[in-house]
Amino acid sequence: MSAIIPIRKADTLDCTNASVLSEKGQREVFCGLTGIIWLHRKIQDAFFLVVGSRTCAHLIQSAAGVMIFAEPRFGTAIIDERDLAGIADANDELDRVVSELLTRRQDIKLLFLVGSCPSEVIKLDLSRAAERLSRQYMPHTHVLSYSGSGIETTFTQGEDACLAALVPTLPPRTASGKHLLIVGTLADVVEDQIGSLLRRMGIEQIDFFPPRRSTALPAIGPGTMCLLAQPFLADTAKQLESRGVNRLSAPFPLGAEGTTQWLQAAARAFDIDQSQFDSVTQAPRQRAQQSIAHHKAQLSGKSITFLPDSQLEIPLARFLFQELNMVLMEVGTPYLHRQIMAPELLQLPSSTRLSEGQSLELQLDRCDADQPDLIVCGLGLANPLEAKGFTTKWSIELVFTPIQGYEQAGDLAGLFSRPLARKLKIVA
Ligand code: SF4
Repeated sequence: MSAIIPIRKADTLDCTNASVLSEKGQREVFCGLTGIIWLHRKIQDAFFLVVGSRTCAHLIQSAAGVMIFAEPRFGTAIIDERDLAGIADANDELDRVVSELLTRRQDIKLLFLVGSCPSEVIKLDLSRAAERLSRQYMPHTHVLSYSGSGIETTFTQGEDACLAALVPTLPPRTASGKHLLIVGTLADVVEDQIGSLLRRMGIEQIDFFPPRRSTALPAIGPGTMCLLAQPFLADTAKQLESRGVNRLSAPFPLGAEGTTQWLQAAARAFDIDQSQFDSVTQAPRQRAQQSIAHHKAQLSGKSITFLPDSQLEIPLARFLFQELNMVLMEVGTPYLHRQIMAPELLQLPSSTRLSEGQSLELQLDRCDADQPDLIVCGLGLANPLEAKGFTTKWSIELVFTPIQGYEQAGDLAGLFSRPLARKLKIVA
């Protein structure tokens, strides 16, 4: 049996039935184009062509910190005044840009046309354009489309839209037996660690989606069970379920406890013996608990508010409450998918103030009233909040940093303790 350090549990746990403050108003979030930054690093033979304005190009370039000497795997087909005025045929212009790109870049095997606010405003039908271009460039290059527009998507929804567009292209699985599909972009190092743990338990048939190369798309079928590694993939999960895939319900692999419960869901589905599970997970679980403990003195008893941004807010709040003894003031999320979040909500205290959507002014008023020790928020809000004396953490950092799994649990805790330690040094 593994040595288990008690996690925080209370009679008041389970906020599955808690009422949610539903808000509509001014939002302060990135658009779904941001997902290109981690997706282009993951799928190494894909290219993301944003069909948008110079604003979209600036967003992607500044967020990704483009290396000008490298051939990037994303770009922008600029919609200019002639397109907006209807003088030029936007489809002809798009065909020309794609032709130039694919002639120059023979390495591109999968091309995503990514919709933006401007492409939606001029009602450019990118799904039809993708079908037309795919017919032209297959089998060498497959062309797909999805929307990253700020009108339709927030921040992490770009990945959901991208993966949902890929699902119909996954080949049918003909092999018999159970098969595990881990869904959601993870850093390669995290993927390798998780794959190794699952194989040591005895789960051999494992695929990760998205794959590192588009030519290695996983086959799926009725024997496939999927485990979401990221909480913002509701549309992708729905698409997979419509292909006969069975979604395993689990908390997300954040912290020692979340990772254990997440792996346990896979182990149960594959009938892995509990003693086998314990013998594989015991050592990394203890390492994770020890590395988290380093940060507990700094974080225990401190209060935190999450402003809605990445959709990681609820699993992170569970981790901070459960394993670091933090006090949850408000947990805001852009969207609350109750089914996907059910195992997380079960482990939050029923007193948690959950909010869905955003009305920025009202939420900032609540921050003023609550005076949390730490606020997790989008980049645009961090400086004004710091100027008011709050300590902040950029939510985008929690998406860009490898935080899933046992070996990253200490780093994850450190992302929250560091801003508080810095504040103490400034004040001292
Ligand atoms: S898609 Fe919309 S919100 Fe995003 S950068 Fe372009 S114009 Fe701005």
